[in-house]
Amino acid sequence: MKPSRCLISSITCGIAAALIFAVPPSVAAADEEVNLYSARKEELIKPLLDRFTEQTGIKVNMVTDKAETLLKRLESEGINSPADLLVTVDAGNLYRAKEAGVTQPIESQVLVEAIPEAYRDPEGHWFGLSLRARPILYVEGKVDPASLSTYEALADPAWKGRICIRSSDNIYNQSMVASMIAADGVEATETWAKGLVANMARPPKGGDRDQIAAAAAGQCDLAIANTYYLAGMLTSGDQSQVDAAQVMRVFWPNQDGRGAHVNVSGIAMTHSAKNKEAAVKLAEFLVSPESQAWYAEVNGEYPVLPGAEVSELLQSWGEFKADDLQLSKLGEFGPEAVRLMDRAGWK
Ligand code: FE
Repeated sequence: MKPSRCLISSITCGIAAALIFAVPPSVAAADEEVNLYSARKEELIKPLLDRFTEQTGIKVNMVTDKAETLLKRLESEGINSPADLLVTVDAGNLYRAKEAGVTQPIESQVLVEAIPEAYRDPEGHWFGLSLRARPILYVEGKVDPASLSTYEALADPAWKGRICIRSSDNIYNQSMVASMIAADGVEATETWAKGLVANMARPPKGGDRDQIAAAAAGQCDLAIANTYYLAGMLTSGDQSQVDAAQVMRVFWPNQDGRGAHVNVSGIAMTHSAKNKEAAVKLAEFLVSPESQAWYAEVNGEYPVLPGAEVSELLQSWGEFKADDLQLSKLGEFGPEAVRLMDRAGWK
């Protein structure tokens, strides 16, 4: 995947927003509604849902909770669940939902054509809506970017005591390690993980933002974290977060090989869906170029739709080659990744 060269400057961003909010409503379908379980923060998706309702007359009822909680809820509600759609982050979570039997294939040529094959379930149970990149973030002046190359190289003793990364119970790391199992095999990845653990500046604690803050505070020289956290810190309005994010630089690893590790947030139709037609319409609405640009922008993520606009900030981090691994593999190798990290002593 190559993020588009196209910029969303504040001006064009305004135009994009105006485009989204200026389309006249089509004939409203009477009494149509769709029920969405969402693991995303309400403010990150609600304006799009409101626009969808304006355009189609279809009401969207949303329940927001943690990914694991929503999955458990879908499992316990079974076929009687009122949910039609599930929106959650990480292909690992989407895979788990499919494995748990709470999803069904979405039949939509629009989705199939819009979303690259790697970013959707091969059987159509889930589709990526935004792309999340997990590169190396280093402290400017402390790390020569020429000394960086691959995730694999971070196991080199030269990095001893210099790396911050969150715990292995986090699905972002589980999915990243799963991608390495897919690329390098279990044995090589386990050796790598042991090397990485030996190079950690401190026992893992906190989330991705905490790794960035720790690096900026001098506790380590680099962190592995999702780029939208960097975007979120830069625009947080909290000066200490802004200051921390400003000393960090993005390094895209594995550019001569498989590419940087990426993941998705995505959407799935529930097994219990009673408003299937409306659910498909909403999913298709979310992959339109305007929705994609807005959704990625507000989340600090990348669009999944090739050619959709990318914000100026993301553009400033440069184009990169993304690993084109079929993301269902992240779920498939997830349990092996957890066991491997355990064996490697990754807390
Ligand atoms: Fe996150």
